[in-house]
Amino acid sequence: MKGLMQDWPLRVSSILDHAARFHGEREIVSRSVEGPIVRTTYAEMNVRARKVAQALRRLGVKEGEVVATLAWNTGRHMEAWYGIMGLGAVCHTLNPRLFAEQLVYIINHAEDKYIFVDLTFVPIVEAIEAQCPNVKGYVIMTDAAHMPQTKLRNALCYETLLDAEDGDFQWVEVDENAACGLCYTSGTTGNPKGVLYSHRSNVLHAMIGATADAMGLKSVDSVLPVVPMFHANAWGIAFSAPMVGAKIVMPGQKMDGDSICELLTTEEVTFTAAVPTVWLMLLQYLEKTGKTLDHLKRVVIGGSAAPRSMIDIFESKYGVEVRHAWGMTEMSPLGTLGSFKAGMEELSHEEKLDIKVKQGRPPYGVEMKITDDDGAELPWDGKAFGHLLVRGPSIAKSYLKGEGGKILDDDGWFDTGDVATVDQRGFMQITDRAKDVIKSGGEWISSIELENLAVGHPKVAEAAVIGIAHPKWDERPLLIVVLKEGETATKEEILHYMDGKIAKWWMPDDVAFIDEIPHTATGKIQKLALRDKFKDYKLPTANAAE
Ligand code: AMP
Repeated sequence: MKGLMQDWPLRVSSILDHAARFHGEREIVSRSVEGPIVRTTYAEMNVRARKVAQALRRLGVKEGEVVATLAWNTGRHMEAWYGIMGLGAVCHTLNPRLFAEQLVYIINHAEDKYIFVDLTFVPIVEAIEAQCPNVKGYVIMTDAAHMPQTKLRNALCYETLLDAEDGDFQWVEVDENAACGLCYTSGTTGNPKGVLYSHRSNVLHAMIGATADAMGLKSVDSVLPVVPMFHANAWGIAFSAPMVGAKIVMPGQKMDGDSICELLTTEEVTFTAAVPTVWLMLLQYLEKTGKTLDHLKRVVIGGSAAPRSMIDIFESKYGVEVRHAWGMTEMSPLGTLGSFKAGMEELSHEEKLDIKVKQGRPPYGVEMKITDDDGAELPWDGKAFGHLLVRGPSIAKSYLKGEGGKILDDDGWFDTGDVATVDQRGFMQITDRAKDVIKSGGEWISSIELENLAVGHPKVAEAAVIGIAHPKWDERPLLIVVLKEGETATKEEILHYMDGKIAKWWMPDDVAFIDEIPHTATGKIQKLALRDKFKDYKLPTANAAE
């Protein structure tokens, strides 16, 4: 027997409608690319997003076609998203930090028809335009007064386009399973692969993300997504925040400590989210200036492992709750978050940190398991580690155009490529990316755990660990360290600090000091580049073994 409830399609346009109707006066504050702070509201955004849809329709864009954005986090970027998706088109977020060849590949592979581009990134598209012959035009996200001199073939002014429309537009009523968003994963091997989100998956993910034990967003919150909208949908915040009616504060292109700290204070931000490298920089800025975080209640840290020392400083020194999160582009992206369960608040400070360094537990809507190499499920004892597999309504079932072939097993599980443990309470901890784990004498060493420990040393700014070939043990860990500005340290000093905090055989065989650790376009340590840099490195222990 079928239920007798309404068919109410889950479309992202309904999120903005809801925000405009019930939280119409709530602000979206942006540090504009032109410079000044600009303010809009959900009510205004709802009209302007409809104008974007009208303008695109006038340009000939049809349902199901792909329109890209190459832009910072701003209100304009957000209204463009809703306009593109509300037309029934697919919004493709391009990552400006990618190499030109990758951008060309992605733009052509996705068959982008138009690209919305911020002033800052006009030179990027100018340089690759000739290699993207199917792009019909470039919408420069500024007003007529700021339009740059450009050699782009068909450069259109965003505000001029919107001025020509009246905003009287009905969102296109596409099927809830129709595509609405596209984001390419920056895989370390092969070409990037497109993850194609549907209206339904984005709406469900926004609901999941907003729940109390996930990001815990409320109408009274002021939310600052530092995580870019081109990095896995700003972790869903541009959907979850309007869904609950929260104020949004957009940092634009200025992501230095001073600019972020200013917004956190003046806009009374209560919730923010970004990768660890951003917080590393902010915490160093706070330490230097003696400033405090007066309004901030909660920070979500994800994308890479949040070091224990970072979590401790946020919580103990600044009174900000850290929610460590793990996810991936293929998961829309939230997979797990580290909110406490009943009884955990009573634990000691160190015991709490032991839980907080883990990547957390899945909200409803994410299924998870760990398996050995033969696919047999491993116990949840916090010790056994294996391949991390996931399943759920906002997790990819294949990549765009079938690239990479079949990505689910026969039971519908997606192998994340991560290796993890799960404890009795269901808290998952990432050991490593499967390809980064260090295989020493048949046992595995977690590079992430060593990195996290090393950055706890007061002189260490950032650390990376890679496996170096070893004649006896197969691989042994090399610790690569960037010291804080003006600091000097010896190898012995760093190793002495780590000694006793990990198993003896996990201790790095050597320490290399370098000026800068390379990062990927989404802020992760570029292990591949490091492995290449140190490919001829000989560990001091290698001789002894010969
Ligand atoms: P991306 O799709 O670019 O967001 O990358 C996803 C990958 O980032 C995951 O498969 C993990 O390897 C890594 N990752 C994300 N969050 C975390 C975290 N909190 N700790 C460790 N690794 C993480």
